[in-house]
Amino acid sequence: MPDARFSPDRVHEEGEPVSIYLHVPFCRTRCRYCDFFLVTRLDHVESFFRALSSETLASAPLLRGRRVKAVHIGGGTPSLVPVSFISGWLDLLSTIGDFEPEAEIALEANPEDLGGPAMRELRSAGVNRLSLGVQSFQQRKLSALGRRHSADDARRITGQALQVFDTLSVDLICGVPGESSAEWQKDLQDVMGLAVPHVSVYMLSVEPKTRLERRISRGLVTVPGETVQASMYSSAVATLCSSGYRHYEVSNFAFPGHHSRYNLACWMREPYLGFGPSAHSFVRKGRVEVRRANAGSLLRYLAGPPASSGIEETLTEEERFVEQVFLTLRINRGLDVGILRKRDKLGLNLQGMLERFHAKGWIVLEDGCIFLTGSGFLFADHIAGELISLEP
Ligand code: SF4
Repeated sequence: MPDARFSPDRVHEEGEPVSIYLHVPFCRTRCRYCDFFLVTRLDHVESFFRALSSETLASAPLLRGRRVKAVHIGGGTPSLVPVSFISGWLDLLSTIGDFEPEAEIALEANPEDLGGPAMRELRSAGVNRLSLGVQSFQQRKLSALGRRHSADDARRITGQALQVFDTLSVDLICGVPGESSAEWQKDLQDVMGLAVPHVSVYMLSVEPKTRLERRISRGLVTVPGETVQASMYSSAVATLCSSGYRHYEVSNFAFPGHHSRYNLACWMREPYLGFGPSAHSFVRKGRVEVRRANAGSLLRYLAGPPASSGIEETLTEEERFVEQVFLTLRINRGLDVGILRKRDKLGLNLQGMLERFHAKGWIVLEDGCIFLTGSGFLFADHIAGELISLEP
């Protein structure tokens, strides 16, 4: 059960800390199911970090004197670039922003990059949280996904990372071609057996134009249907929650104190600055909120501003409301029925909707707020979609 009420009408306070995201857009090869923005040519790594320094310095006025509560280095595969580039950028950042003593510095890594000294070097560079793209501890699943690491690598590197970093997150995917419920249970048992303090569970989604989609359309593989995927997700919720994990977001489970500070800040609509191609930012001045996305092109990014500048939009009241409903349900901190009632002026729809969701076992109402149940998490977006359809 959630532990705190979230007030969706919270406004930015002066001095509110900021989080930072860096998108490192390089991978050695593209996994079969992946449609992220990335390139597999590594000869641009050095010029990328030069462009990143320029972007960071150009953003200094937004950052100077601000408290930095979290830095998340994602991608792509940040663990494949030399650690000296990562540490150089963190050093630059720390000369501009004011890192909180307990600031989270997280980095996404793939097991195949961490066999040598990289893990210790990353820790020395200030990284205190590792997010490990394990995806599975079963060799058959890893091969079906086109991952480069083996099941043995996954176990060994997970064990070592637990010793080196303050906290560790492991990603697991269910719904892989040919996967059975028993195979999924084995992954859950493996991650719990290692006592990994944070687990992200994703249902494999088949994205257009991926190799996976082509293999499915040619009849080479099939993926478990929606009902099987839903039951795998539900078994993850039941298994992890009965073993001490808290289900604090649709896909995320953590032992107390091990949640991702960066991700939670984004879901709570706290400000964050994004660096690198395709990175998003959310900044606020008083009640004016702006979302910005860098252009999703490495070549434009290397050319520097204004070529790298992407889209910027100031949110309308309606857009803010929609975000608040979706995000508050995602992190299950209690969506205030009062703000929905204000929109349902004729009082015709909301009550019926809530009764329907409750009858399906998706929500509970407590202290005038909506909370999702374990099975309700599966329908979080559907529930939010219906709630925002109430006529203002
Ligand atoms: S390692 Fe991650 S980002 Fe890179 S191709 Fe695979 S899924 Fe995509």
